[in-house]
Amino acid sequence: MDCCSVFQGASPSRLGYGGMRFPVVPGTGNIDEEKAKCLIDRAIRGGITYFDTAWPYHEGQSELFLGRALSAYPRGSYFLATKLPCWLVESREQAREILDQQLERLQTPYVDFYLLHNLNRNMWEKMVKLDILSLLEEYQAAGKLHRLGFSFHDSYPVFEEILRYRSWDFCQIQLNYMDTEHQAGLRGLELARSLSIPVVVMEPVKGGSLAQLPEEVAKPLQEADPEATPSRWAMRWVASQPGVAVILSGMTTMEQLEDNLDTFSPVHPLSGEEEKLVEETARRLRARLNNGCTGCRYCLPCPSGVDIPGSFQVWNNMAVYQNQRLTKRAWKNLDPEERPDRCVGCGRCETLCPQQIPIREHLAQITRQVEHFLEQN
Ligand code: SF4
Ligand code: SF4
Repeated sequence: MDCCSVFQGASPSRLGYGGMRFPVVPGTGNIDEEKAKCLIDRAIRGGITYFDTAWPYHEGQSELFLGRALSAYPRGSYFLATKLPCWLVESREQAREILDQQLERLQTPYVDFYLLHNLNRNMWEKMVKLDILSLLEEYQAAGKLHRLGFSFHDSYPVFEEILRYRSWDFCQIQLNYMDTEHQAGLRGLELARSLSIPVVVMEPVKGGSLAQLPEEVAKPLQEADPEATPSRWAMRWVASQPGVAVILSGMTTMEQLEDNLDTFSPVHPLSGEEEKLVEETARRLRARLNNGCTGCRYCLPCPSGVDIPGSFQVWNNMAVYQNQRLTKRAWKNLDPEERPDRCVGCGRCETLCPQQIPIREHLAQITRQVEHFLEQN
């Protein structure tokens, strides 16, 4: 298993285990601890030493489970990452309570990598206003948090502002061969590299979308390497980007874990030819988009509450990946109060969209098309 040596005093594995998609007991939502423990044990035997969790994963069960599962191993043999649920924090005292509870849940005197979870502009401004950073620094000085970072979901300018604000030990961004210009994107990765801030990558297979490609899109990749899964191509693409320290994968099955272990033992960066093949795959996928919404959010807020970029994301991903399971999950996650059929056609959003998308016309098609797609066998 490849390790990275960009963190001072720590060389975690390049492949990190994301603790948000453990197997669950059907019909209950509870983590299937027996199966999940087998995965953790196999991951450790395979050389994975970076384990990432967060307060809300599996509705709070992920931290508790990982605490139990990892307590079987010497504390110095693995690195633990968890995150402050910024959206729940309204005071320093509350953040302190959460932090203390997390150390208890994880059965550990310290966390190796601690992140402000899910930063966007509003969340960041709240953290600054509440002076949460000085609290984290207090915990760091006491040896309870070893490295401070943040995970990020907003546009590049917000990323740059946060990244330059202080001397972070690391940061975590979404990156895959389809999201090169989305959120922080490759530009953000390059900025972090120029500031010598190591980057942990999440969503390397875009929430599973790049693990199962439409047949005609996957063909060139399959022909080039009949043994390689689409996930392996996606992982290798991320691992080939300079500045990427750790790549997280939320593995649910032993098959996914074995495939990833194989990919990273050791990981082979893409050759020039292979890079072109992946670029061609991305081009073919993008050609299937319904529209060019970049998720910039300039069109918001909508007076009727429509989540315009969220609606387009579901619609576009459905068209591109043709994955019924993922479309169903994304559609279910879209708040009924924010769905496209709430649009009253005022037209305000269209005056603000830099991509000049006929938003009303497109929103009007979404509900019918998504529901029709989900009804198909
Ligand atoms: S046209 Fe529809 S989506 Fe756009 S701002 Fe008006 S109500 Fe919202
Ligand atoms: S619809 Fe236009 S303004 Fe709204 S998020 Fe998409 S690209 Fe940006």
